Amino acid sequence: LTVLGIETSCDDTGAAIVDDTGQVLAQEIHSQQQMTIRLGGVIPPIARRLHEENIERVVTATIESSNIPVEQLDGIACTVKPGMPLSLLVGLKYARELVRRAKNVPFLPVHHMQAHALTVRMVDRVAFPFLVFLLSGGHCLLAIVKDVEDFMLLGESIDTSPGEAYDKVARRLKLKNLPECDGMSGGESVERVARRGDPHKFVDRYPATMSKYRDCNFSFSGMKTTTMRLIEREEEKHGIVGDGILPNVCDVAAAFQLSVGRHLLKRLQRCLVFIDYNDLLPKHNRTLVLSGGVACNSFIRQVIGQLCDHHEYDLVCPPPQLCTDNGVMVAWNGMEKLKVGKGIASDPELVDIEPKCSIGPSMIRKVQ
Ligand code: ATP
Ligand code: FE
Repeated sequence: LTVLGIETSCDDTGAAIVDDTGQVLAQEIHSQQQMTIRLGGVIPPIARRLHEENIERVVTATIESSNIPVEQLDGIACTVKPGMPLSLLVGLKYARELVRRAKNVPFLPVHHMQAHALTVRMVDRVAFPFLVFLLSGGHCLLAIVKDVEDFMLLGESIDTSPGEAYDKVARRLKLKNLPECDGMSGGESVERVARRGDPHKFVDRYPATMSKYRDCNFSFSGMKTTTMRLIEREEEKHGIVGDGILPNVCDVAAAFQLSVGRHLLKRLQRCLVFIDYNDLLPKHNRTLVLSGGVACNSFIRQVIGQLCDHHEYDLVCPPPQLCTDNGVMVAWNGMEKLKVGKGIASDPELVDIEPKCSIGPSMIRKVQ
């Protein structure tokens, strides 16, 4: 079996063809990352224009390099939720047209976060059910993955995402002006400089987050604000103006990163206790899959790994190329659906985008 996947939910135009064993037969991506870094964020109409300019080339090149005529594919998958409306629409319109051209090829609409959660199964035999922890540019969520299309949400961020917090801090610290951070995402550059810093110089400035909340949700806006204030004060103290960079930039980055790590750990620990209490996973062979762009951070991987050891969970982190946005994750999600005969759209013309859409029904209320 072979499935083509198309991804345009944010700022990457991606396409890929995978087979049922998880082999990637072809893939192409046009990344807007450099533009995003330059503009300081994704600007929806610009992202749409770049998708429109690139989608034809990206998809055609993928199909050509696979040597599989489009009518011989077993499925065409496309991200339709959640994401930026203008971006999602470009992919959906293109996919619909391709399905029309390919006549009887099944169309598989894909949920972007579900796709992130399942990519691990391309390279690792992780069986259902498992716990997934997604830390990305737009999300922070914990969910039990019961089956290909059956997800139970246990916790999520009530405000901003960890990726967004990393990006804001990177921008405020002006890390892109450092040659060692050239071309890196905000998160990568914070991780890079934090390695040389001493987190304990400033970590006491960070108040405990959500310590009174008995659910498994997350919040990052408090630590973002604390970091902004900290930078402002330090800049004043050191007389930094304009493009200047703080002499203790590494310590600030390290303190921010440690406070993110501590918060993630505390909330994850609550979640593991909740899972035990409610028997949500079998007692043995428990797996935590950690994915998303922020999950590429080795400090975060390390601290979560320690908690997993303590609670006897196997920690599985997909390789970085399977943690971020591309056509592969979408194609594989389509393949998983196709293999169990679920999620095939009866009429592709009636499929619409859903810019906001939870990964699955929430257990949050029951936690409290
Ligand atoms: P979503 O799937 O929620 O819509 P996304 O797919 O756009 O978001 P990802 O590509 O998974 O997001 O992640 C991008 C984010 O990951 C960016 O905010 C980036 O700064 C962050 N990031 C990348 N590498 C690291 C790292 N090493 N440490 C921390 N953050 C990182
Ligand atoms: Fe993503």
